[in-house]
Amino acid sequence: MSDAPKSAELFERAQRVTPGGVNSPVRAFRAVGGTPRFMVSGSGPYLVDADGRQYVDLVSSWGPMILGHAHPAVVAAVQAAAAGGLSFGTPTLGEIELAELIIARVDAPSLQQVRLVNSGTEATMSAIRLARGVTGRHRVVKFAGCYHGHVDALLAAAGSGVATFAHPDSEGVTGAQTAETIVLPYNDLAAVEECFAAYGAEIACVITEAAAGNMGAVAPLAGFNAGLREVTYKHGALLIMDEVMTGFRVSAAGWYGLDPVEADLFTFGKVMSGGLPAAAFGGRADVMGQLSPAGPVYQAGTLSGNPVAVAAGLASLRAADASVYAALDANAHTVGRLLGAALDEAGVAHQVQYAGSLFSVFFADAPVTDFAGAQACATWRYKPFFHAMLDAGVYLPPSAFEAWFVNAAMDDGALARIADALPGAARAAAA
Ligand code: PLP
Repeated sequence: MSDAPKSAELFERAQRVTPGGVNSPVRAFRAVGGTPRFMVSGSGPYLVDADGRQYVDLVSSWGPMILGHAHPAVVAAVQAAAAGGLSFGTPTLGEIELAELIIARVDAPSLQQVRLVNSGTEATMSAIRLARGVTGRHRVVKFAGCYHGHVDALLAAAGSGVATFAHPDSEGVTGAQTAETIVLPYNDLAAVEECFAAYGAEIACVITEAAAGNMGAVAPLAGFNAGLREVTYKHGALLIMDEVMTGFRVSAAGWYGLDPVEADLFTFGKVMSGGLPAAAFGGRADVMGQLSPAGPVYQAGTLSGNPVAVAAGLASLRAADASVYAALDANAHTVGRLLGAALDEAGVAHQVQYAGSLFSVFFADAPVTDFAGAQACATWRYKPFFHAMLDAGVYLPPSAFEAWFVNAAMDDGALARIADALPGAARAAAA
C-alpha cells in the first residue's frame, strides 16, 4: 500500500467533524483498509487526489458519470442554469423537459408520468408509499442483496428459510419498521410464488433492482423479471423496478431496453441527474395520479426538481447518444476481458459477471446468482487486488460487493493503464 500523506491528513481532520470521516460509508475504505483518497478534480476518465496522483476511475461516482468527469456540455449547462438562479421553489420548464425526456427514452407503455426527487432513496421510499396507498395493503417484498437506498423498511436482509420476515440490518431501524418487509432470495421465482401463495392478499408491492448491482453484478436469470410481473399481476400487487443504478447506463432506455418488463413503477437516479442530486420515480398515470396534490398519497421536496440538477440531467441525457452506449459496452467488455485474462494467468478462480455494461469480479468457481453465493466468495482476495490497482493508478470500488462502472471517456491511455495494472493485482489476489 503506498501512502497518501495529504489524504491521510484530510481523513484525520474529517473524522473530527464527520462520523467515520465520510458522508457515505463505503467511501471510508473500511472493507479494504488503508486511507480513503480525497479527490480534488476529475476530467474525462481520470480523477486526481489531494496528493496530486491521477487515477483511472472505475467508480464513476457510483454510476452517474457515464460521460466521464467535467463533460463540457454538462458543465456549461450547469453554469448557465446557476447563473439564472439556484432554486425557485416553483415549477420550471426544465422539470417538464426532464420528465418528458425520461419518459421518451424509456418508452415503456407503463411509464407515463414521473415525479422528481433528490435521491434514489427518496425515489424508492416514495414508490413504496405510493404502492401501499394504491393497493391499501401493507407488506413489501424485496430480495436479499438488493439495495434500494437507506429506507428504513428496506434496510433488511434475509434470515433463513424461504419467506423470512425481515430483521433490521441497522441499529435505529425497529423491528416494527421491517416487520412488513419480506426478504426472498434473488433469482428464486419459486420462493416468490410460495410467498404470494401465503401472503398474496397482503402484499402491496415487490421491489427489485432491474439487474442487481449492489452485491456485485448479478443479472436476473432469463424470465425472472417477467415472472415477477406475472405473479404480482395475478395477485394485484405492484411491481417496482428499481433502475437507479441501471437506468440510462446499461442502454439508452436502461435495463428496460434490454429486458422490457412492464413495471407499475420505475425508480431512477444517478445518470439522469448527471452527477448532481436528483432522482425520479414514475409509472402509469392512474397510479401516479394518487400522489399529492392530485391524490391522497403525500410526497414533497423543497429542492425537488432543482433547476441546476435538472439542467445537469438534461445535458447528460442529451449528450448520451448511441456512440456513448457503444463506448460503455466496449469499455466494460475490454476491461472485463483484461481482468479475466490476468486472473487466469495468475491461477485465481474467478467469475467476471455482467449485467449489461455493469460488471464485477467474484472470486468463485461457479457463477453467482444470489446474495448467498456472493457472500460465499473468497472476498478476502479483493483487498490486496484493490490496493495493487490503486497503487498502479486505477480507482476501483473499495468493496468486493460493488459493481464496476466504466465511462465513455475512457481512451486508449486509460485502458492501457488498466491493462498494465491488472497482472500485478491478479498476482496479489493469488497470494
Ligand atoms: N437503488 C439502487 C439500485 C441503488 O444502487 C441506490 C444507490 O446506490 C439507491 C437505490 C439509492 O440511491 P441514493 O444513494 O441516491 O439514495
